[in-house]
Amino acid sequence: MGYKCTRCKQKVEVDYEYTGIRCPYCGHRILVKERPTTIKRIKAD
Ligand SMILES: [Zn+2]
Repeated sequence: MGYKCTRCKQKVEVDYEYTGIRCPYCGHRILVKERPTTIKRIKAD
């Protein structure tokens, strides 16, 4: 599962979710889940 730190913008790989997850680079505790890159945009044309 890929996460991204909202402060330093570093990608953080987390194998499992647990309480107290934090960025290993800056110690920030707010990480956002990165969506898989398989998102397809549907054009209506
Ligand atoms: Zn960070």
